[in-house]
Amino acid sequence: VSILGATGSIGESTLRVIAEHPQRFAIAALTAQRNAEKLIALARQFRPTAVAIGDETQLPGVRSALHPLGIAVFGGATGIAEAACIPADITVAAIVGAAGLIPTMRAIEQGASVALANKEALVCAGRLVMEACATHGTRLLPIDSEHNAIFQVLAAEHRAAVEKITLTASGGPLLRRPLATFASVTPEEAVNHPRWSMGAKISVDSATMMNKGLELIEAHYLFDLPASRIEVLVHPQSIIHSLVHYADGSVLAQLGMPDMAIPIAYTLSWPERMAVTTPRLNLAEIGALQFEPLEAARFPALGLARAALNAGESHLIALNAANEIAVAAFLEGRIGFTQMAEVVERVLAETPTTSIGSIEDVLAVDESARQSSHTRIAAATLA
Ligand code: NDP
Repeated sequence: VSILGATGSIGESTLRVIAEHPQRFAIAALTAQRNAEKLIALARQFRPTAVAIGDETQLPGVRSALHPLGIAVFGGATGIAEAACIPADITVAAIVGAAGLIPTMRAIEQGASVALANKEALVCAGRLVMEACATHGTRLLPIDSEHNAIFQVLAAEHRAAVEKITLTASGGPLLRRPLATFASVTPEEAVNHPRWSMGAKISVDSATMMNKGLELIEAHYLFDLPASRIEVLVHPQSIIHSLVHYADGSVLAQLGMPDMAIPIAYTLSWPERMAVTTPRLNLAEIGALQFEPLEAARFPALGLARAALNAGESHLIALNAANEIAVAAFLEGRIGFTQMAEVVERVLAETPTTSIGSIEDVLAVDESARQSSHTRIAAATLA
C-alpha cells in the first residue's frame, strides 16, 4: 500500500487499519508536505520502500534519518509524483486539495487500485481522472464515507435501475447557529466538527457545506449520474452514510458509526471484508435517527457547486481553486466566514467557459482562478 498524504487525518486512519493487519499489508511509499518529523516516525514504524517530502528544505533532514534504513527519499512536488509511481497494489490518495491531482494521476497510470479520499482531484479533473482509470484498467475505490456507502450498496447488476442517490450531510458545527451570526464565526468554531475528526480544510468545508458541494461533483463522476439525480439530506447523527433509491421503490443504505477507518478498511480489503477495531453501532442506544432538508439560504456553497456542475469543467476547476484560497484566507483570519462563498461566487462569475482537454488545461484554469481569488481577497481585506 502507498499512502499519498500519510501524515494527515486520512493517512493516520489508514495506517491505524494497516497496523492491525501486519501479515496482510506492507507499505510501498509514504508522502508528506511539511511534517517531516511525523513522516520520519511513520517510516521508522512501517519501513516503506520510499518516502517523499514536498517541502524541499526538509529533504536533507529526512534523507539523513532514513537513508541508513535503506529507505529511498524523494523531495518536492516531483518527488511526491515519483513516490506515487513506486509499485503498489493499492494507493491511498489522501493529499488535500488540487495538489493531489498529479500524484493521483501518476498512481492511476500504474494500473493498480486507487482508494480515493482526495475529492478535489475529481472535482477539478473528474472526466480526465475517470478516463485515465478506464485507459489503465485502474479501479477507483471511494474512501469518502458517503461515496463509500453508495459503492457498498450499488450492485453493478442493478445499475440501470438506480433512480437517484441521496448524500447525507451532518450539517456541520453551524447547523443550529442563527444565520445572522454567521459573519462572526471564527476558524476555531468552524473546525469544531460535532461528528468527524478531520483535517482543517475539510472541516471548514463541512461548516460552509462546500464539502457537500464537492461531494455532489465527486458522486457525479464516480457514479455517472447527473446532478438532478443526486440529492442532499441533513442527518445530524452521521449514522446513515448515504442511500441508493431503486426503480422498484427499494432504498438501500449503509450504516455505521462515524469513523473513517470503516470506509478505509472496506477499500483496503475490497472485494472482501476484514475485521477492524472500530466503534460498533448500537441502534437501541441511539434510539432515533433524525433527518431534515438542507436550508439553502444558510449554505450558499452547495448551490454554487450545483451551478458550477451545470456550467462546465472550467467552472468546476475555478470553484475548487477559489474555495481552497478562500478557506486558507479564512483560517489565517484574513476574511470572514461568509466571505468565503462570496469569493467563490465572484471568481466563478468571471470564469469563462473553456474546453478542457488535458491536465495542463486544468492547471492553467486552476492557476488563473487562484490569482483572481487572491485579488478578490486583497480587495475584501482593504474594504
Ligand atoms: P489533512 O490536512 O489532515 O492531511 C493532508 C495531507 O496532505 C497531509 O499528509 C499533508 O502533509 C499533505 N499535503 C498538504 N498539502 C500538500 C501539498 N501541497 N502537496 C502534497 N501533499 C500535501 O487532510 P485530511 O486527511 O483531512 O484530508 C485529505 C483528503 O481526504 C482531502 O481531500 C479531504 O477532502 C478528504 N477526506 C477527508 C476525510 C477526513 O475524515 N479527514 C473524509 C473524507 C474525505 P503535511 O501533514 O506534511 O502537511
